[in-house]
Amino acid sequence: ATPTALMVGTGRGAQLGILIKGPEVLENTRRVDTVVLDKTGTVTTGRMTLQDSYAAEGVEEKTLLRLAGAVEHASEHPVARAVAKGAADRAGTLPAVTRFAALAGLGVRGVVDRHDVLVGRERLLAEHGIALPPALAAAKTAAEAAGRTAVAVAWDGEARGVITVADAVRPTSAQAVAELRALGLTPVLLTGDNRIVADSVARAVGIAEDAVYAEVLPQEKVDVVRRLQAEGRTVAMVGDGVNDAAALATADLGLAMGTGTDAAIEAGDLTLVRADLRVAADAIRLSRRTLATIK
Ligand code: ADP
Ligand code: MG
Repeated sequence: ATPTALMVGTGRGAQLGILIKGPEVLENTRRVDTVVLDKTGTVTTGRMTLQDSYAAEGVEEKTLLRLAGAVEHASEHPVARAVAKGAADRAGTLPAVTRFAALAGLGVRGVVDRHDVLVGRERLLAEHGIALPPALAAAKTAAEAAGRTAVAVAWDGEARGVITVADAVRPTSAQAVAELRALGLTPVLLTGDNRIVADSVARAVGIAEDAVYAEVLPQEKVDVVRRLQAEGRTVAMVGDGVNDAAALATADLGLAMGTGTDAAIEAGDLTLVRADLRVAADAIRLSRRTLATIK
């Protein structure tokens, strides 16, 4: 490829809303046959809102929201922002948190009103020897079947409630998946979220059920990309989160959502300026066209 043609491609990319790190990036794009899509913030808007809260027996709903909201207030995660905002709207000013800790891909922990509070995946509670009582487990499963993300809340060693949040699939994601398929790429969904939620998003956008990797920890996202590469595939990854940065760097081509975190943008080869997955298909098309004119 001549430098000039690649420069022209780079300029055309900017017009389409694709920021390219360097002209050589376009050459890597050509061989891509698999595109791994992060769910939250990539296929979906990532702007979650609090839906319902279920308090365990003997727990005031307001207390549940106050304590969970206070810890989540210290986190930047989309789930956390939804819980903190919803809790403040419904239960009033949130108390302060001390000894806050974010546990990547699992949830958060902190001390509020002298209670040691955990908010996150059921797995996070399990790691602390805490099980969800049947009523809360049922509420969680029902919410997930409806496509919502449910987080568990515990304090002082006991499960105290479940809070559900909803995200929306971006209106252009299904068309984007269809375009990627038309380009001959196999779409894969990758998420730390629950399997039931992941499957429902996959169905909504047309990703096959056997191409869904759910409940994947942030450090394991890289392993999924490596495994696909070991099968002989050339992998593009699209993501937005801090959690996606390593996978974006490992993929043959990393595409960061411009609405995403700085870590993702730094790790990617391309940035999609608009929050629209169809631009990922534009990027692949552009590079193929650019390289075709060179030959
Ligand atoms: P994704 O891969 O979809 O971007 P993450 O790996 O960031 O998701 O998170 C995976 C799951 O961990 C979330 O769906 C949520 O259940 C839980 N989780 C992560 N961070 C938090 C948090 N701050 N509060 C509650 N739950 C969280
Ligand atoms: Mg994400």
